[in-house]
Amino acid sequence: MITDSSPPRRNTRQREAILNLLASTKTHPTANWLYEHLKPDNPEISLGTVYRNLSILASQGKILVIESKTGIDRFDADTSDHYHVICERCGRVDDVGKDFAAPKIRDDEAEQATGYRVSGHRLDFFGICPDCLMDGSGENGSV
Ligand code: ZN
Ligand code: MN
Repeated sequence: MITDSSPPRRNTRQREAILNLLASTKTHPTANWLYEHLKPDNPEISLGTVYRNLSILASQGKILVIESKTGIDRFDADTSDHYHVICERCGRVDDVGKDFAAPKIRDDEAEQATGYRVSGHRLDFFGICPDCLMDGSGENGSV
C-alpha cells in the first residue's frame, strides 16, 4: 500500500526549496540535478518527491517544463516570455535572449483557423551547442 504520509508543512517546505533552487540557476536543470543538490540539506527528500512537486509547480504556472529531444525534461523558474535553444546531443538548454526579435505568433488566429480554444503555443530551437561542436563530432552525427 502506498500512502503519502508526509505532513503538509513538509510538502510546502520541500516545494519552496525546489522552487528556490530552480530560481537560483540559469542552467535549466533536470529533476535529477535538483534532487542531487537538495539532498544534502533535505535528507528525507526523494527523486519522486522532486518530480511530483515539479509537476505541481508546472500546473500552477510557477515554472516552465522544457521537453528536450533526449527525453529528459528540463525546468525553468523564469516564466516570462522567452525562447529556448536545445542541444540535440547533450540536452543543454539556453535562453535565446530577451532582445531576440521574436516572431509574432497569435493564439487568436490559431483559434480562428482551428476552432480550438487555444491556451498557448510553443517554439523551441534545436541544434548542437558550442561545447558539443568543439568536441568535433557535430557533423556526422556520431556520439
Ligand atoms: Zn551540447
Ligand atoms: Mn529559460
